[in-house]
Amino acid sequence: MTKAFRTLDDIGDIHGRRVLVREDLNVPLSDGVVTDDTRLRATVATVAELADKGAIVLVLAHFGRPKGQRNPEMSLSPIVKPYESVLGRPVRFVDWDVATEAVAAMQPGEIAVLENTRFFAGEEKNDRETIDRFAALGDLYVNDAFSAAHRAHASTEGLAYVLPAFAGRAMEAELDALQKALGEPQHPVAAVVGGAKVSTKLDVLKHLVSRVDHLIIGGGMANTFLAARGVSVGKSLCEHELTGTAEEILDAADRAHCTVHLPYDVVTATEFRPNPPTRTVNVHEVAADEMILDVGPAAVEALGDVLKNCRTLVWNGPMGAFETPPFDAATVALARTAAALTKEGSLTSVAGGGDTVAALNQAGVGDAFTFVSTAGGAFLEWMEGRELPGVAALAR
Ligand code: AMP
Repeated sequence: MTKAFRTLDDIGDIHGRRVLVREDLNVPLSDGVVTDDTRLRATVATVAELADKGAIVLVLAHFGRPKGQRNPEMSLSPIVKPYESVLGRPVRFVDWDVATEAVAAMQPGEIAVLENTRFFAGEEKNDRETIDRFAALGDLYVNDAFSAAHRAHASTEGLAYVLPAFAGRAMEAELDALQKALGEPQHPVAAVVGGAKVSTKLDVLKHLVSRVDHLIIGGGMANTFLAARGVSVGKSLCEHELTGTAEEILDAADRAHCTVHLPYDVVTATEFRPNPPTRTVNVHEVAADEMILDVGPAAVEALGDVLKNCRTLVWNGPMGAFETPPFDAATVALARTAAALTKEGSLTSVAGGGDTVAALNQAGVGDAFTFVSTAGGAFLEWMEGRELPGVAALAR
């Protein structure tokens, strides 16, 4: 299949050529120790392939938010050792003031991490001077950082217009999965949208109603929809000022023949803490002093039946306050159903967003979905149907 963008399959002979590779090395660090190396591992396929082909591999990445200033606390240098162990190969660290000479001294197959791109104010401004400064170090550009592709920065977007540009393997896998989930999906398509608030996901919901056959709304945001339908939600998290917007979304769904699924039973408590006394009740029976903290078991079973009839699922946001037991039950149960259907081959399942990944891991099914995106902002913008500048810049 011809792809909409060039990949490493199209890059040709790169022996001895300098390849600037944008990766996401923005890992959590605590006392100099990388506490979660998922992002480092995601870069291995691309970086190892380029090095094996004899390229001089120059990794570009940002770290934290230094706001265009040199800030030693946000140097990428502490990442180099852990990155070496993840890659199983030596990695040099190259600071900007010596970059030209350091890169000139590198041999084919060697790998270097360049210092934080955000030490330049021009990185986020995507200005020509900064783009040229980066471009002068390389012959080719590979963007492998989907999670940064919603930003039009010099290293995520600008470079693609001045050097021959290719998608790395992680970027390619991500774009392929997203294409299968919402670009040209097999129908029926279900979307699960959960999480705390409607206000942060309005654009997601508005876009999805025109793309999917079933919209499953859970989490705190379902309360606003229930309130819009005249349900008393007691002390639940609820954006009462958005009930009008919720109604508009429900109307738009009707017009687009998208079935919206709201919970009809819920798990409530009067205190928000681990393992408080709970009640499982019909949504019309929530007491004035209660909070809705999870979707109920009858609704979860019905939602499982919806998924059984679907071919594609895209999921963002938990169904309940999953960090606090027992309010993870609905998220865990529905995630396991989706995982089982994926295993049977009847469902293509794509999930993304920070909390969602944590919730799927908690359910023990992080590896059982077709694809799980660790990108937060970029995944949400993609679910909003927006064109991501870093991806658009790679288009053929
Ligand atoms: P988000 O970042 O928008 O995906 O929201 C995720 C957060 O929503 C998680 O921390 C959940 O604990 C929280 N959440 C989900 N359902 C509820 C609920 N019914 N009441 C309060 N918080 C919830």
